[in-house]
Amino acid sequence: MGSVFSRLRITAVEKVSLSVHRGEIFGLAGESGCGKSTLAKMILGFEQPSEGEIIHRGRSGESITGKNAWRRAGVQLVSQNPFEAFNPLRQVEAYFFEGVRNFRLASNRKEALAVIDRVLRLVGMSYDEIAGRYPAEFSGGQLQRVSIARSLLSEPLLLIADEPVSMVDASLRMSIMNLFRELKDRLGLGIVYITHDLATAYYVCDRIAIMFRGNIVTMGDVDKVLLEPRHPYVRLLRECIPEPEPDRRWTSKIRFAESEAQEYLRTGCKFAGRCARAMEICMREAPEYTEVDGTLIRCHLCADEIADEVGQ
Ligand code: SF4
Repeated sequence: MGSVFSRLRITAVEKVSLSVHRGEIFGLAGESGCGKSTLAKMILGFEQPSEGEIIHRGRSGESITGKNAWRRAGVQLVSQNPFEAFNPLRQVEAYFFEGVRNFRLASNRKEALAVIDRVLRLVGMSYDEIAGRYPAEFSGGQLQRVSIARSLLSEPLLLIADEPVSMVDASLRMSIMNLFRELKDRLGLGIVYITHDLATAYYVCDRIAIMFRGNIVTMGDVDKVLLEPRHPYVRLLRECIPEPEPDRRWTSKIRFAESEAQEYLRTGCKFAGRCARAMEICMREAPEYTEVDGTLIRCHLCADEIADEVGQ
């Protein structure tokens, strides 16, 4: 017998519109099953949206096709688990030489070594530190740095970092997050930082979008969204930040009145089943975006409050 999900058509990501700029870290945050990973796959070209489109440097995502096309277009993935990004039986340096070959970055071994050493130095390492070594000979933090260096080989404009510190020892997470900030500043990279952890998101992001059941419920500067939350969902999550406890899960204080499928299928506000301030309209009508001080919020209540504030 199939699961509920196998029998129902669930819209994993709906009415999402966002842009990521060079030189910024954009957070995509939400609890598991909120749609952030699906959205990341669309940005990477692994999945196509059934409606709408992904525009990358003025080009429609549909026009970026072929092997390594998205890498060539300047988009790279930093995966969650660096140990899964490398074959345990293959020396790490082989991936770098392969990348140099694929992207035609050097015409001889000496040039290749210089290119590889340069990208490793961007992450605080060197070629000598990886020469002849296998993945298991690195710590999780070191291998994540190596993985990031590998993704820099093609000189990307945009990195998609999917829970990049979740498999890294807590003591080393800060150094990886600082590395993202350095890369953003030094290389002008745009970085999409996907996480369930608001504490690290608050630390590293410039702007953030909070997702719930396939919807962005609020989006704006990270300080405004997380420190002055107006959306009821973010208010519920508010007490999780900015305490430096990356292992703390943010769902602990939230009641689960409905199943995930029921929430996805709700025609009104997806959060209505959990929201202490839900109104009758929330059950039947999905809220539109309202802008408050540069922050976008999808909530009937916020729209009403703003109307009151401007005397409508
Ligand atoms: Fe709560 Fe209604 Fe706002 Fe949804 S739209 S968050 S249910 S008040």
